[in-house]
Amino acid sequence: MPSLTFYGGVGEIGGNKILLEDERKRIWFDFGMSFAQSGRYFAEFLQPKKYNGVLDFLEMDLLPGLSDMGGFYREDYLSHAAMETWDKAAYDAVFLSHAHADHSFYIHFIRREIPIYASEVTRQILAAIETTSTSGFTDFLTFKETFKLTSKKRGEGQTRLIGEKAKVPRDFRVIEEGGKVLIGDIAIEALAVNHSLPGALGFIIHTSRGAIAYSGDLRFHGYGGGLTRRFVERAAEAEPIALICEGTRINETESLTEQDIQDRAGKVVQQTKNLAIVNYPWKDIERMRSFYEVARASKRRLVVSLKQAHLLKMLEGTDAQAPPLDDDHIAIYIDRKNWGLVTKLDYPRNIIEQDYENWEREFLDHPNRVTCEDIRRHPSDFIIRIDFFALADLIDLRPAEGSCYIRSMTEPLDEEAEIELWRVENWLRHFGLYPYEQIHASGHASGSEIKRLIEDIDPKLVFPIHTEHPEQFQEIVPRGTKVVIPERGREYRI
Ligand SMILES: [Zn+2]
Ligand SMILES: [Zn+2]
Repeated sequence: MPSLTFYGGVGEIGGNKILLEDERKRIWFDFGMSFAQSGRYFAEFLQPKKYNGVLDFLEMDLLPGLSDMGGFYREDYLSHAAMETWDKAAYDAVFLSHAHADHSFYIHFIRREIPIYASEVTRQILAAIETTSTSGFTDFLTFKETFKLTSKKRGEGQTRLIGEKAKVPRDFRVIEEGGKVLIGDIAIEALAVNHSLPGALGFIIHTSRGAIAYSGDLRFHGYGGGLTRRFVERAAEAEPIALICEGTRINETESLTEQDIQDRAGKVVQQTKNLAIVNYPWKDIERMRSFYEVARASKRRLVVSLKQAHLLKMLEGTDAQAPPLDDDHIAIYIDRKNWGLVTKLDYPRNIIEQDYENWEREFLDHPNRVTCEDIRRHPSDFIIRIDFFALADLIDLRPAEGSCYIRSMTEPLDEEAEIELWRVENWLRHFGLYPYEQIHASGHASGSEIKRLIEDIDPKLVFPIHTEHPEQFQEIVPRGTKVVIPERGREYRI
């Protein structure tokens, strides 16, 4: 008999960690970080200690304390913390719905031989985060053996195993959209859905007792909304016994569409005489496309950050539908770093290069590169993305009167942490960018759309997750559908 246990995403937005057990197989659906739980204890300068491995995360209830942790969490961390390790993995696979932190980041902590399944786009986004992040907890595709010793190259004795030699690839497997994966007798069908980052999947899990559908995070109002509608149709055909459904916006009715964003931002930019500054999540490719279209229509260029340039490069050749890096309406912002030499032409190239990480260097000579000086000279030629953590770049950019700031962010809980808004507002006031424009479309379906989705799929059971208001599902489900509000760590037999 199949059973489901929810270790995260329960009464909170994100942190999904769902365990399915059936036919002696044990499969995770998402293994993400809970921003709410993490934010209760940790902040930018108050972080878990690397030397404790999983201990700090278990202590603060960020990772589930399982009875068979020795067969699940990574052995290097467990043995360094004097915890029991098993010879074999106690779990069969992890399926990731998408690359947002609240669904995927804690795969860092699991044994490297446990297969991880995700879409090609999710794989590329995770690779881009792994390369560009400075956090020590991003072993998504490449497992870096930690706390290990190795013989010295020269002379006697041992030294720490670090660098290339410590790296081992994880068993990361790409699922085709519309494809099926068999784990024992359980077939898992992956279907693309639309969300605020590309590559998102919903799943239909064919268990011994019938199908269970899992929404992941989804919306209907993006450019790729048709994908979500197809997921709903396919899930309905499977006549599922249960639906695990996200409910981020269960008590909200209205949704701006991605097209609305394009139209509204377009108007603001048309009226802007100088520099247009925008802030949207760096991985949200549909939002990037919206601003790219605004840039084309206003004969400007959309300036992306180095991190975004790297992501766009990783997404080339995938179906993410990202704007190409060498497009006439795209520019790559080489921000000043370290010694700030990129604007000082009398320094030799190799010295300038030292301001940048390896992965950034390839963009230094890109035909579409721009620096703060290019933008200062021709501010009305550009729309630049400056996020809250890059606000100090405004000192280099010196936006003149007649510039604008458009805030176009998704729910902070579902994305990267935000700094306090009052501090942001101080920056914007200082540079005459206040009041700013707030133009945003959510990455999630509204309450009425979720109601339709449940009516169309018509499952016997609904498990509301990824929501602070699971009880509201009771008011929207059709008669004959039972809502089960999951409790954390409790096993539900289906
Ligand atoms: Zn989420
Ligand atoms: Zn998400």
